[in-house]
Amino acid sequence: MTKITIAIDGYSSCGKSTLAKALASKLGYAYVDSGAMYRCVTLYALQKGVIKDHSFQESDIVRLLDDIHLTFQFNPNTKSSETFLNGENVEKEIRQMIVSENVSKVSAIHDVRVKMIAIQRKLGKNKGIVMDGRDIGTNVFPNAELKLFMTADTDIRTQRRFDELSSKGQHISFNEVKSNLIYRDHEDTHRKENPLTQAHDAIVLDNSDLTREQQLEFVVKLITDLTLSFN
Ligand code: C5P
Repeated sequence: MTKITIAIDGYSSCGKSTLAKALASKLGYAYVDSGAMYRCVTLYALQKGVIKDHSFQESDIVRLLDDIHLTFQFNPNTKSSETFLNGENVEKEIRQMIVSENVSKVSAIHDVRVKMIAIQRKLGKNKGIVMDGRDIGTNVFPNAELKLFMTADTDIRTQRRFDELSSKGQHISFNEVKSNLIYRDHEDTHRKENPLTQAHDAIVLDNSDLTREQQLEFVVKLITDLTLSFN
């Protein structure tokens, strides 16, 4: 079957990566979590003491960029791709609240975006990829054959994120999680460069009332119809 590029964008914690992983596994495609890349830059800046009390100088972050090497490895046990920062598996560290609190400001920096987008385009050059993020369909792969724009009710998104963090032993209140989602959505939709917006040719998927299985079934049907139309 013809391999395509699938771009999934949307608000924070609306299940983009859950859907993207399921699709990649079903189709035998690569999965790339572009948010993990911005989280790695943020984590590195925190580790180097460049971000202090939620503030930083852009130039200090830009200076770190050459020292950041990102790689991804598929973990057959968790059946998902894991992110490595300078050779170290940082899947857990990049999901910490301190990273979530700072990542939107870091991802708004021009040089950070240039570096991450170059890596993303390289990873996607042979198609057969599912990538999720905020600007994948609008900017990274504007010619992607399938673009999805995901959304869901804020309380439902908060509950999902809260459950995920709790299951990983991170005990943060529901309201703290909710404030962070609202804050990031605001920052991500209002920044100057590559803000989160719906691509004009994206299909909107509101999964507030859908199970994971229903959502996957809906998108697989879209892909089947789309690839049949190529033949
Ligand atoms: O997807 P995730 O919530 O892990 O992304 C973390 C942050 O990375 C987002 O809130 C956003 O600021 C940034 N991001 C971005 N562009 C992308 C993916 C993520 O700016 N393509």
